[in-house]
Amino acid sequence: MHFDPAEALSREELDRLQVTRLREIMARAARSPFYARKFAEAGIGPDDITTPADIRKLPVTTKQDLRESYPYGLLTVPVPELVRLHASSGTTGSPTAVFYTRQDIETWASLMARCMHMCGVRPSDVFQNMSGYGLFTGGLGIHYGAERLGCLTIPAGAGNSRRQVKLIKDFGVSVVHIIPSYALHFADFLLSEGIEPASLPIRIALIGAEPHTEETRRRIEGLYGCKAYNSYGLSEMNGPGVAFECTEQRGMHLWEDAYIAEIVDPETMEPTPEGEIGELVMTTLTREGMPILRYRTRDLTRFLPGPCACGRAHRRIDRIAGRSDDMLIIKGVNIYPMQVEQILMGMPEVGSNYLIELTRDGHMDQFTVKVEITEEFFVEDMRSLNALRGRVQAKLRDELLITPRVELVQHGSLPVSEGKAKRVSDLRPKE
Ligand code: AMP
Ligand code: ZN
Repeated sequence: MHFDPAEALSREELDRLQVTRLREIMARAARSPFYARKFAEAGIGPDDITTPADIRKLPVTTKQDLRESYPYGLLTVPVPELVRLHASSGTTGSPTAVFYTRQDIETWASLMARCMHMCGVRPSDVFQNMSGYGLFTGGLGIHYGAERLGCLTIPAGAGNSRRQVKLIKDFGVSVVHIIPSYALHFADFLLSEGIEPASLPIRIALIGAEPHTEETRRRIEGLYGCKAYNSYGLSEMNGPGVAFECTEQRGMHLWEDAYIAEIVDPETMEPTPEGEIGELVMTTLTREGMPILRYRTRDLTRFLPGPCACGRAHRRIDRIAGRSDDMLIIKGVNIYPMQVEQILMGMPEVGSNYLIELTRDGHMDQFTVKVEITEEFFVEDMRSLNALRGRVQAKLRDELLITPRVELVQHGSLPVSEGKAKRVSDLRPKE
């Protein structure tokens, strides 16, 4: 039933394993100049850890720390012992590099294979990886996982929709990995070619790498007639394979034999009460080349209370609600792009793409939502278009508590990115 016996560990076993591994990884991390200094400053060592909660005695690591230690300041092995480098996508500033030993690649591939197996992928599946390769971990990271599981694996990469569909048809692809914004765009492409997306042999889509809502997942499932499972990861924690949905589709199991997760109030750094949203802080327990402890991910989520019906004790996190650094403050109101997506993707008239545009009129910030409308609803009749615009605006106002400008645009007219979608375009003059 399980791909890896670690999936079956009980809460008590996981707690014990976390303590042992945290002590080991601290000893290892202390070999790097960065953690040697951090531990000395905090006056802390492995012997101070007796329960998983003792992790709170450790200092946190931030993106800024990684930048300052660039390129090699967090290594615990000499460069010749490394076999791979990846970099984070740098959606928020300059990229940071992460390094892997041969063993790290092995561990990562096994974690990823475990995720895929958990949601029903089997060695008999033909798997197409439709995400970018290169420095992005969603390429080789998922690729190695699929091979480790034993699937025939097609490294299609991102974009080139015409070639993607040919590969899917020619080789009977049953499982794909695809970024959710591209999954919606790809469905548009198929329909424009007269191909019904559900006529393809895809039975499972692994979707992730960018924030998306439950409404978006349901849309993707409806379009392709498949199951779509949320995949969460970040380069600093290897890449994909950190947390993944099981077939229950109620939150993502975070692999607690390989990582310690905390959810904290980003202001006070105190753990949030169970079930409440906060910032995810992550620790690698098994990484050799570049351990990272108490990393502030900026991703906002919560632990889902209670056990999962699948029986795995590894705790579940809710889908990522956004990043603490992508919160917009418009007219004094806090807005997350995912609130906009949730409304839009729940409306059948709305097409596959949208864009939030921020501008300034005099001293006032203006918040405009550009919305693609499906072909079917993009009628010439001004009156019905205006009525639709009013409906979109009213729904957004109810959710956001401010009234955005809404522009309806023809489907296929907004920019599409090959990687993670850019949902906000900030055109306000720099201060
Ligand atoms: P990178 O390391 O460049 O691949 O970026 C990692 C970041 O992508 C994470 O910190 C999240 O902000 C985002 N991300 C990855 N997977 C998901 C997911 N399933 N849902 C929402 N955001 C995600
Ligand atoms: Zn489960």
